[in-house]
Amino acid sequence: MKHRQPNIIFIMSDDHASHAMSCYGSRINTTPNLDRIADGGMRLDNCFCTNAICTPSRATILTGTYNHVNEVTTLSTPMDNHLQTFPKLLQQGGYQTAVFGKWHLGTGPDHCPTGFDDWAVLPGQGRYHNPEFIFKGPDGGTKKTVPGYVTDLITDLSLDWMKARDPNRPFCLLYHHKAPHRPWYPDEKHADMFLNEEVPEPETLQDDYSNRASAAAAAEMRVGPNMSTTDLKCEVPKELPEDELRSWAYQRYIKDYLRVIASVDDNVGRVLDYLEEEDLTEDTVVIYTSDQGFFLGDHGWYDKRFMYEESLRMPFILRYPREVAAGTCNDDIVLNVDFPALFLDLAGIEKPETFQGRSFRANLQGETPGDWRESMYYRYWMHKAHHNVYAHYGIRTKRYKLIYYYADGLGQVGSIDETHEPEWELFDLERDPSELNSVYGDPTYADTVTELKAELHRRQEEVGDERYFRDVD
Ligand code: CA
Repeated sequence: MKHRQPNIIFIMSDDHASHAMSCYGSRINTTPNLDRIADGGMRLDNCFCTNAICTPSRATILTGTYNHVNEVTTLSTPMDNHLQTFPKLLQQGGYQTAVFGKWHLGTGPDHCPTGFDDWAVLPGQGRYHNPEFIFKGPDGGTKKTVPGYVTDLITDLSLDWMKARDPNRPFCLLYHHKAPHRPWYPDEKHADMFLNEEVPEPETLQDDYSNRASAAAAAEMRVGPNMSTTDLKCEVPKELPEDELRSWAYQRYIKDYLRVIASVDDNVGRVLDYLEEEDLTEDTVVIYTSDQGFFLGDHGWYDKRFMYEESLRMPFILRYPREVAAGTCNDDIVLNVDFPALFLDLAGIEKPETFQGRSFRANLQGETPGDWRESMYYRYWMHKAHHNVYAHYGIRTKRYKLIYYYADGLGQVGSIDETHEPEWELFDLERDPSELNSVYGDPTYADTVTELKAELHRRQEEVGDERYFRDVD
């Protein structure tokens, strides 16, 4: 019998942290349409990115490789569109393919989307109101401004394409939102949400960065002091004491962040409604994720980049009634590098040797393979270039996280050539889930440090990455 190839709708937003989704227990908002996906399928509770920054995470998802392999290490290294990707393989395997919305992997003939029957993407970050799109065409495509709100427009393009498709062949749609990336401009419909409300603050909003490596205090991504008038839509009262400024700025930006998410939620609802109307729900895999997490005032920060939980963690919910039981959860360590392996597996297409991830189809069915990974490897390369975050790599297991700030740009395009003394951090996530107290120097954890270093270096070797020359232990 011929393998039944499901449709795949891969919804990815930009900078949407899982703790701003009600299906993940958000304390600050509700996302009823995203919850429809989670309620109808599975929620992954330990899904992580291998580099918490936009362009590199997207390249990993398309190519199934880590950033030292695909060479998209920073925001300034666009992806070579001649690389093998999962959409190309699905297209060759009989799928109709398209991408609409956020691309952020470069523009022009060598970086525009390839492997898609149709596409329309935002140049760079794109705009919220009346955005320009680059539509599929010769020489890297044709630019055109489209009136309207970006989240609605990306959805319109996606729905129009699905309506015009050949219903006799499966499709794979990459429906990729710009929202909720900075600078968080809501649409009219959601502009007044939370207007006279106080959004609950995260417990670590007033973090003082003690008991950690110096990287945390050095980072310039504090809510308030490091925000612009564009972020806050008004002058920043920098004369306020920092704690008051953090609380004040948190209310300003988090409301806009949640407002633009409300539009994403509405629009995802439109797509789910369409699937129901067309009787496509059973045969369509619907995924909602984001390219990485985001600090929602956690540690006093906005933005991402660090290997700390809020940034490392990706939301990942998947609905596929034919294979995945409704209302289920899974806490296996799943990575963005695994996504393309899953897509190919679902489509019955062989995974190329070069893809470094592993399909988690069995995990989704509640049958985790006995040799599933117990640790994951992470690396942030963009040393100091934005927000003064130091380059680092590390290992995370279910219980521990070991981070090495090697703090060197290593000549990477998009990083700054200035070094700092390397430092280690170790967090016991069971005792310290908020990561406020590094126990690296605590003798009680000496054996754990030794084991985790060995595991870190083993993982590095396995994925073919190089250890920093001063990491000698
Ligand atoms: Ca992002």
